[in-house]
Amino acid sequence: LSRLRRTEPSVRSFIHVADAAAEREAEELDRRIATEGLDAVGPLAGVLVGVKDNLCTANMPSTGGSRILDGYQPAYDATAVRRLREAGAIVVGKTNLDEFGMGSTTEGSGFQVTTNPWDDSRVPGGSSGGSASAVSARQCVVSLGSDTGGSVRQPASFCGVVGLKPTYGRVSRFGLMAYASSLDVVGCFGSSVVDTATILSVIAGHDKMDSTSSSHDVSDYKSELVPLDLLESKPLNGMRIGIIQETLGEGVETGVISSIKDAASHLEQLGSVVEEVSLPSFSLGLPAYYILASSEASSNLSRYDGIRYGRQVSGDDLNELYGGSRANGLGHEVKMRILMGTYALSAGYYDAYYKRAQQVRTLVKKSFKEALERYDILVSPAAPSAAYKIGEKINDPLAMYAGDTMTVNVNLAGLPALVVPCGFVEGGSAGLPVGLQMIGSPFSEGNLLRIGHIFE
Ligand code: GLN
Repeated sequence: LSRLRRTEPSVRSFIHVADAAAEREAEELDRRIATEGLDAVGPLAGVLVGVKDNLCTANMPSTGGSRILDGYQPAYDATAVRRLREAGAIVVGKTNLDEFGMGSTTEGSGFQVTTNPWDDSRVPGGSSGGSASAVSARQCVVSLGSDTGGSVRQPASFCGVVGLKPTYGRVSRFGLMAYASSLDVVGCFGSSVVDTATILSVIAGHDKMDSTSSSHDVSDYKSELVPLDLLESKPLNGMRIGIIQETLGEGVETGVISSIKDAASHLEQLGSVVEEVSLPSFSLGLPAYYILASSEASSNLSRYDGIRYGRQVSGDDLNELYGGSRANGLGHEVKMRILMGTYALSAGYYDAYYKRAQQVRTLVKKSFKEALERYDILVSPAAPSAAYKIGEKINDPLAMYAGDTMTVNVNLAGLPALVVPCGFVEGGSAGLPVGLQMIGSPFSEGNLLRIGHIFE
């Protein structure tokens, strides 16, 4: 907590800090342990968790990073948050994000700009930038984020921490403010694979409050990790790994490419066979993603009308009330996405844009499925560059969108992916971290974590 208090003025990971409440909860846990013993408290007793502010928390404000929800306090906890609390974890605050998850730098927050702990003139990535920077600066042990098109994996890469995007449906979305419901997943950050695996076992599993959550078995992911001191010399013997060819070409920083190639040869030294594999539909994923995500957002965000939640601008009639509340409460990027999505869904354009994008999504899914029949996992960079300067891309949305090429396909296909730090490029005072993305078949989180742990 004292580190959080010391670093927060420069990192600004949190929109809401509940340090005093966390201290009280910790004291209460101590008392229970003293009187009833360790068994009386959950396995995560006292573990400080940061929660992305688009996840509902009953005792703290939940804004989604949007001014339109300023002052909104939900009546319930998101399922992932509830499960962490039931295991004894302490929510230490709500982390900053791009408004409703739309962005890649956290500069799109309606509240504040978060900085990258490796270099405070740089972005932490986004949209879960606050959750990534909080773990990176060791302000909390683990954190929750959400990943619609890369929002856990890209900030994990920029901040040098572990980030996991689970299979679609692995973690309940109940209490997650919807951005694009067919792509959204709740994910998690840790400073190690062990921590990330521990959290996943707690938050994963079927939830009757989310009909898209899966009842596929949840493992004790941590106990399935091979202890590092027991590893044989070639622990990855028999494993086949494909590097996605399309992710190592034009538009990718040379330092990132060489970090990924070094990581690949490390995986080879550990016993695996590593080959380049081509996914021809890879480059189609980005435009398809932005059409589908904006379309779904334009429908999901209609609930922010100034009546049901948050901030209201009164008007003479209903149209003025809606218009005033939205004009005032929503930021530029969110308005742009709503307009793009409404356009893509409108009669006359639906077939050309939305339907076409759905066809691309089917293609992307198929090419991943085929590749994952030949390889145990696929690897790529998590982002085409390391963390860039604050302000560098804020006025160039297309350049910012292009930064999502490595991650969006995985959401279109609903697959799990783990990002682990794998190298550095020059920049800042100590270099800037680069993350390796490992992609697996549905519900292969255990395998990804095992490989990530060995690699770590
Ligand atoms: N940067 C992407 C977007 O703006 C992904 C965001 C996310 O995963 N929430 O849509």
